[in-house]
Amino acid sequence: MNLRDYIASIPNYPSEGIIFRDISPLMADGEAYRYATHQIVEYAKEKQIDMVVGPEARGFIVGCPVAYELGVGFAPVRKKGKLPRKTIEVSYDLEYGSDTLTIHEDAIKPGQRVLICDDLLATGGTIKATIELVEKLGGVVAGCAFLIELNDLNGREKIKDYDIITLMDY
Ligand code: 5GP
Repeated sequence: MNLRDYIASIPNYPSEGIIFRDISPLMADGEAYRYATHQIVEYAKEKQIDMVVGPEARGFIVGCPVAYELGVGFAPVRKKGKLPRKTIEVSYDLEYGSDTLTIHEDAIKPGQRVLICDDLLATGGTIKATIELVEKLGGVVAGCAFLIELNDLNGREKIKDYDIITLMDY
């Protein structure tokens, strides 16, 4: 199966000059969604994962079926103010301004092996902040899995000390 057939490329979204890679056709197709999930599950099986973590919102779409298949839990990473209990936070720079991501302080137990999932690796800012949150809680980042990697933005460089898998690249 060629997963690229299930990615829609939207020119000038969300702003002029950007090509947005839309994963919703992939999610809408049961076989393609299952195939992509299975690829990540196969990658994760050798890594003795205890927990899957994903940043909102598309990290949930990718990470939750992987956690289900592995038979482990899933912990959400969310924008500041969205999680109801005590959290820890990490801020990171965006092109204009900054953003803050949070995770419940009891989401990961020290020593647990974590797989981080998201739909797309661009500059690497989101994954870097998510890794920091997991490590602050004492988790071990055993791997990072993405459906798509945007080569020009060099996000891979930001996380070069970590094991990663990407299913497609542009
Ligand atoms: P980064 O932090 O690596 O620069 O950006 C990655 C984050 O932004 C991911 O959480 C991803 O969901 C979102 N993102 C940025 N560009 C795109 C895109 O073209 N398509 C999709 N599906 N997500 C994107």
